[in-house]
Amino acid sequence: MKALQMEDFATGSMMGSGGFIVLDDTQCVVKHTYTLARFYRHESCGQCSPCREGTGWMEKILLKIDSGKGVMSDIDLLWDIQRKIEGNTICPLGDAAAWPVAAAIRHFRDEFEWHINNPEDCLRKNYGLAGYADEIHVPVLSNE
Ligand code: SF4
Repeated sequence: MKALQMEDFATGSMMGSGGFIVLDDTQCVVKHTYTLARFYRHESCGQCSPCREGTGWMEKILLKIDSGKGVMSDIDLLWDIQRKIEGNTICPLGDAAAWPVAAAIRHFRDEFEWHINNPEDCLRKNYGLAGYADEIHVPVLSNE
């Protein structure tokens, strides 16, 4: 039986967990995607490596972008990581972790680019991180 892929959904989105979050256009898609990634990294049981490693990588890269320290290639790296998780894990948590990242990039890539092109504005308007952005640990993931 073929595993479901994001492309199998007509809207390019999914509601696998039965819950949904409604955001207005004042909200930061990057920050909310980071929050989701953080949740899935925490929930990963670590049994299979795409989920165990991939959720952590996605969380780190999203935090890097959200903290104004991202580079353009981080977006493609994120895309690549979620593609390698999707369909390659034992349970559906891997897909559930990958799909929000895919949807965010597919539908809101301009917001990711804005964060990278405007690091100072990004920190100033970053909904709560601005006060302690220098204190949080942002890993350096060199991919350039
Ligand atoms: S996909 Fe499921 S089984 Fe695999 S590491 Fe993630 S939570 Fe564990």
